[in-house]
Amino acid sequence: MTGTNYPNLSLATILAEAHTESGGSVTPPIVQSSLFTFDSYESFEHRMAGHGSDPIYTRVQNPTVAAFEGLMAKSEKGEAAVGFASGMAAISSTLMTFLKPGDRVACIEHVYPDTYRLFERLLRPFGVEVSYHSPAAFENDPNLLDGVRLAYLESPSSTVFEVTNLLKVAEHARRHGTLTVIDNSWASPILQNPLALGIDVTLHSASKYISGHSDTVAGVVVANQDLIDQIRELALPLLGAKLAPFEAFLLTRGLRTLDARIQQHQRTADLMVDRLSRLSCVTRIHSPSSNSVPGLKGRSGLMSVEFAPNIDIKRFSNALSLFRLGVSWGGFESLIMPAQVGLAQKGEKNSMQRFGVSPSLVRLNLGLEEPEDLWADITTALSHATL
Ligand SMILES: *Cc1c(COP(=O)(O)O)cnc(C)c1O
Repeated sequence: MTGTNYPNLSLATILAEAHTESGGSVTPPIVQSSLFTFDSYESFEHRMAGHGSDPIYTRVQNPTVAAFEGLMAKSEKGEAAVGFASGMAAISSTLMTFLKPGDRVACIEHVYPDTYRLFERLLRPFGVEVSYHSPAAFENDPNLLDGVRLAYLESPSSTVFEVTNLLKVAEHARRHGTLTVIDNSWASPILQNPLALGIDVTLHSASKYISGHSDTVAGVVVANQDLIDQIRELALPLLGAKLAPFEAFLLTRGLRTLDARIQQHQRTADLMVDRLSRLSCVTRIHSPSSNSVPGLKGRSGLMSVEFAPNIDIKRFSNALSLFRLGVSWGGFESLIMPAQVGLAQKGEKNSMQRFGVSPSLVRLNLGLEEPEDLWADITTALSHATL
């Protein structure tokens, strides 16, 4: 008997439900095969002609990947999902499927820095027009999406975690026939389900909370069957940035504990916001709380903090011992990413440089360590960094 017999299971239960399709195994097998053979000429021809659903070739379909995609579709309350080799592959493959030269995109400010570069360095030269807008403009300007093919959102956004009312944007978009896409990596399916708020496509860097163990780079897109079919027909086979079976296995493993991990990240984040807000050297905390916009159910473990001029950010960063210096986030380990390091990134201007962030800002990834140990690390480091 499987839990699927019960209609109203909570997401934590769905994610913990045993996989039992292969001899009682509670985990999906890793099908490490590039191709799948057929018993007869007739069955091969039948499948190639588009009938049936047996896998043919792992670039487009693999049972281990399909097990992860099925669980992701349920998590995001969507009809279907498609996995990718990275979050950026999920983003670029989605955009390449739905955009063509001459199309206009309205993008949220403070978008993930490499998504900004994708728009500016790759899509703009191919004839896609991109403009950037604040959450307030998306919510309140009824003409913003006039003639816009695709609205690209992040809520909360990167680095400064500005939230957007997705219900309002979805409503404007429906009126203008604009496709809405959101990067939902920060919230994970536990804290926000954009499809339930009327957004068309939700995608993730699965390298972050979905993996949760800092050992995988992957991405995933969830939407209705028709939109996912379009991605499966175009960008998945033709750009070829598919999710690998072993990575998919790790992501399914990550999903099992996602709810428990997010609850713990949230407890730590609530404690940090409470304590940091009492310090006179903290001038601003960027960490949206639950219900700051409709549908946002809580606070994840990624936040940023701005310090007064009497804190030496370099000394603070070096004095921390549990928080390590590094990019990425969403794993078990705490990390610090000072804005000044992001602002110093080589190459084409990134979104932090374009839209401006305070050089006194640091981004903190709160891991799964005991919150009091993390707090002690911060207060000790601050005592070494106060001028
Ligand atoms: C990390 C990240 C990405 C890119 O994902 P990769 O898996 O590194 O390609 C996209 N969006 C957000 C918000 C991210 O944090």
